[in-house]
Amino acid sequence: MKLSHHLPGSITPVRFQRTIQSIFLLYSIWIGWRFYQFTLWASGQTDIYTPRPDSVEAFLPISALISLRDLIQTHHWDVIHPAGLSFFLIAITISFFFRKAFCGYICPVGLISGWLNWIGSKLHLSKVPPRWIDYLLQLVKYSILAFFIWIVVFRMSLANIHSLMRSPFNLVADGKMLQFFLHPSTTTLLVLVGLFVLGIGLRSFWCRYLCPYGALLGLFSKFSPVYINREEKQCIHCGKCRLACPAGIDVDVREKMISTECLGCMRCRAVCPQEECLTVRLGDSPIRWWYLGAGAVIMFMLLWLIAFALGGWESTLPKDMFRIFYQKIM
Ligand code: SF4
Ligand code: SF4
Ligand code: SF4
Repeated sequence: MKLSHHLPGSITPVRFQRTIQSIFLLYSIWIGWRFYQFTLWASGQTDIYTPRPDSVEAFLPISALISLRDLIQTHHWDVIHPAGLSFFLIAITISFFFRKAFCGYICPVGLISGWLNWIGSKLHLSKVPPRWIDYLLQLVKYSILAFFIWIVVFRMSLANIHSLMRSPFNLVADGKMLQFFLHPSTTTLLVLVGLFVLGIGLRSFWCRYLCPYGALLGLFSKFSPVYINREEKQCIHCGKCRLACPAGIDVDVREKMISTECLGCMRCRAVCPQEECLTVRLGDSPIRWWYLGAGAVIMFMLLWLIAFALGGWESTLPKDMFRIFYQKIM
């Protein structure tokens, strides 16, 4: 079966990915703006009330991990940050089915990382270190992930978990995070500049080496039935796919891209001169390249709707409670 490179209207894989990523980035900025306005009201700086956007809890993965431990042990859904827990589970579910397409299409940091890669490649700086250094550096994100899991799962008692979940600090954790970025300390600024420079010099530096969220999703992506397949007979070993891969995968020598790093972004396929060399497979069957990204987004929307309908998204805490704690702590 011949599978076209393009969607109707000549939408290339890169344009397809960038369009979806841009929509999610714009949505995140809108959420950030609404939340900022909410914090102005909650901290008493204005009397104009802006409802708190629950989606902001997507940026609280540690709180979500704590809520997940509570859910598994007590079967109670977190009422303080319900959207954070739902979002966390949605991202994991997407990884089960569509590899790390959450990183490739939905997470706004993935787009920023892509921009840094683009700047790096224009300046001829963006490098992938030798394989053994690459693996060593990847250990950092797995170590951070293991540390959090060890603390939350093995070191904290259920009583500790409950007291942390109900603490004022947890209630305003998203506000604290906003303050962190709105009023960065000198150290924070230096770290951000360092990440910026490293992101230009080393391909997808933050995502590949430091992000524990991506590390977790990568592990779940190992169960995904969808992957990129390289047809050896078609391959002319030009190496373009390896150069284009934001995850630094040696696509030109592997038969199946079942790496924990594969984002399903299809950039390898976009640059491949051989039309049928790199294909997306579901099990052994080829499927169209855009099913991967589209499937991840559709699954995201469906699960979000389900979470919303089942009451697993909107916080039921009275808005005045937020105001009391924001005025005490912020
Ligand atoms: S690795 Fe982390 S920061 Fe990067 S796209 Fe994935 S979740 Fe986002
Ligand atoms: S771009 Fe295509 S032809 Fe070139 S090495 Fe990669 S898979 Fe082979
Ligand atoms: S192997 Fe292809 S689909 Fe996977 S991350 Fe690399 S470029 Fe994207």
